[in-house]
Amino acid sequence: MDRYVYDFHQGGRDMADLLGGKGANLAEMTRLGLPVPPGFIITTEACRAFLATGAEPEGLFREVSRHLAALEESAGRRVGQPDDPLLLSVRSGARFSMPGMMETVLDIGLNDDSVLGLAKVSGNERFAWDSYRRLVQMFGSTVMGVDSALFEQAITLLKDFRGVLDDVHLDAGDLAQLVETYKNLIHDETGEDFPQSPAEQLRRAILAVFQSWNGDRARLYRRREHIPDDLGTAVTVQRMVYGNLGPDSGSGVAFTRDPASGRPGLYGDYLPNAQGEDVVAGIRSTVPLAELERLDTRSYRQLLTHMRSLENHYRDLCDIEFTIERGTLWMLQTRVGKRTAEAAFTIAAELVDEQLITPDEGLARVSGEGLARLMFPRFDASATGEALAHGLPASPGAAVGSAVFDSATAVRRAAAGEKVILVRQETTPDDLPGMVAAQAVLTSRGGKTSHAAVVARGMGKVCVCGAEELTVDLERRRFTTRDGTVVEERTVISVDGSAGAVYPGAAPLVDSEVMRYLETGERSEGVVTAVARALEQADGARRLEVRANADTPEDAARARRFGAQGIGLCRTEHMFLGERRKLVEEMILARDDFMRERALAALLPLQRQDFIGILEAMDGLPVTIRLLDPPLHEFLPDRTELAVRIATAEARGDLPDPHDAELLDAVSHMHEENPMLGLRGVRLGLVVPGLVAMQVRAIAEAVVERTRVGGSPKAEIMVPLVGAVEELRIERDEVRRVLAEVSAETGIPVTCPVGTMIELPRAALTAARIAEQAEFFSFGTNDLTQTTWGFSRDDVEAEFFSAYLDKGIFSTSPFETLDREGVGRLVQIAVAEGRATRPDLKIGVCGEHGGDPDSVHFFHGEGLDYVSCSPFRVPVARLEAGRAAL
Ligand code: PEP
Ligand code: MG
Repeated sequence: MDRYVYDFHQGGRDMADLLGGKGANLAEMTRLGLPVPPGFIITTEACRAFLATGAEPEGLFREVSRHLAALEESAGRRVGQPDDPLLLSVRSGARFSMPGMMETVLDIGLNDDSVLGLAKVSGNERFAWDSYRRLVQMFGSTVMGVDSALFEQAITLLKDFRGVLDDVHLDAGDLAQLVETYKNLIHDETGEDFPQSPAEQLRRAILAVFQSWNGDRARLYRRREHIPDDLGTAVTVQRMVYGNLGPDSGSGVAFTRDPASGRPGLYGDYLPNAQGEDVVAGIRSTVPLAELERLDTRSYRQLLTHMRSLENHYRDLCDIEFTIERGTLWMLQTRVGKRTAEAAFTIAAELVDEQLITPDEGLARVSGEGLARLMFPRFDASATGEALAHGLPASPGAAVGSAVFDSATAVRRAAAGEKVILVRQETTPDDLPGMVAAQAVLTSRGGKTSHAAVVARGMGKVCVCGAEELTVDLERRRFTTRDGTVVEERTVISVDGSAGAVYPGAAPLVDSEVMRYLETGERSEGVVTAVARALEQADGARRLEVRANADTPEDAARARRFGAQGIGLCRTEHMFLGERRKLVEEMILARDDFMRERALAALLPLQRQDFIGILEAMDGLPVTIRLLDPPLHEFLPDRTELAVRIATAEARGDLPDPHDAELLDAVSHMHEENPMLGLRGVRLGLVVPGLVAMQVRAIAEAVVERTRVGGSPKAEIMVPLVGAVEELRIERDEVRRVLAEVSAETGIPVTCPVGTMIELPRAALTAARIAEQAEFFSFGTNDLTQTTWGFSRDDVEAEFFSAYLDKGIFSTSPFETLDREGVGRLVQIAVAEGRATRPDLKIGVCGEHGGDPDSVHFFHGEGLDYVSCSPFRVPVARLEAGRAAL
């Protein structure tokens, strides 16, 4: 067994880490006895070794030569053999599919001599020269670094000169001439000749594929898809088969089910007399796969049989690339296919019904991210008006934005805050930045398997492709519809990726069916039922409870409908906004106890009323109420504004408003350079007399009120930003004092557990002590992230996170997905130490991470009792908590 190179028959699908997804699946198909052109795979390990040192891994090309010799032996032909050359494809293939993001070189092995041999054995001179010019072009741009636009210019010039529109109308002589032009171009640009030695072609192509792992496109894609940067790509070297040998040949792409809706059936595109790349590039328009039955019945039937066996074998939707070479079907690729969120849920439910997978496996196949996508609104079909054009519904959803015609403009405008729709004839991997920036992608050419469609689906981006009624004029930055309507750049349009339609202006939106189901419990057929089943399965499997962060009775009620099992965080500062701000201002500015108490007394009934509403909405379920957290000056007017007001009055010769002067004095006095780390959280409660007592009294009286009317209120009191056990002890004593007071006054015992947030490294590191005073912990991972990293949560994301993402310091913002290594370590310490002191300590999390899929898995693993997140994330968290428990 070699170290770096595996023959197809030596691998299998479970070796994707080493052989890449493509290589592993080719090996698997070979093992299944499907017709796969023979070949071998160079491992990701070889790529990693190459990227680490910049040098060819020791012995790699000796191994390649040995495998190549075996391949030649089985084919009965040699690479470079002048009379009948064996030709090779060299393709990238990483662990995770990165469609079109890395390099491929086809037709390796052709040179000035063997092109003549190929022409002879194939009996098709045009084909041989076309293959050669493709090799020179691909090799020139990919391996030798010549700008691909120069090749495009040369072929366009030749077509203009010959007066033809399409490449297929260039004859063998034209193409031979083009090869010469290309070779000269390469020489002029690089000072080097196009290599005639097939061994050198192969060697350099392999290294170029390795190198393309670190190309800009690939890096951007990985960042977007959260694929680690250190995996490397495998390289598949395979005997070429040809779909462009005439009308009895062709290439196609097929899905075993509809990747957009998930419905069963045969989906795909076929392009007669073409190479696979032409299908995916969307350069020529394809025919539906069903047409193949008429064109080549035998191959069609074989393909169906193979597709069925692949789906049964992989027990999932497979996508397949195939080529028919003069009536012989070859399978060139398969993988478990990318799909929309809707398709993921629908297919999972159907495969469970077909007993191909278990319900738990069905749950593993769907994701919280997909569910979140299905909760978005779509267009109201009754109000969209006449469509501008129709195309293929390639990736569902509704998007509104202004039309732009190139990737750079999309990026620029989006960065300026504009919502844009990227309109292209077809997209190439170079358009990726624009696709990421846009709300939707609209193309006038290409099928459901074109680059635009595949990439958009993978990103969950709305996409309509192949809208052939549109003529896209890139130069004049506009498109024209069939009836002559002209849509200029920056005109607002609406793209419906579910129906495959484009509308003028901003079309009105309606809620999603899934959202309606979550709100009302109303089940309709199709994806709604599939979602409901997945959620039931998750609820049955999960150990984590899911609570919501909610501050109003309405949010609490919605969260409950979405399945929340209580409130994990009620931020009381949100109750002090709006008209009540004036009362808070009075409290802060109070010159004496009397004035302060008067202000607090005015706030008390308002707070109590809020708590009654929330406890009622969550009757019988725990409601964790957090005492006031933010710095007090957040409730006061802006310092600069006040200063300007006073200065303007003085400039006019007026006396400034004495209230303004008083306010400015207070605001200046309380000003903090970094209020996030200043007088907030428990510190406020300890410093402002009467504040905690007022809040606790409001909570206790609300509990009494709810108890009196027969409710079952379960309030919990939570102290924020604690760093030392002593802070908590003092505050907890005060809480207990007030609870006892209210109990005595009302004759109704009020016993609320008192716990703390763990939001500071010191709290995590002294959790054993803090647990002496805390009846529960709730990780405030927003603050814990900011204080662990020393990142200000208000500023850094806009400031330099994109540079950090670019440099691979992290692959997602640590404010979005929990940093397991650092912040997660503190969580581990606090859980272990807290429970060592108090074994029944209830532990949850209420930072934003409580609704983030990856973080939910982490919290499950660390033995937390619950996660708490915004109401809309509750279904997502339920689903992911269930998946985490599988
Ligand atoms: C937290 O810090 O994670 C938290 C939930 O509190 P807030 O976001 O209100 O600071
Ligand atoms: Mg906090």
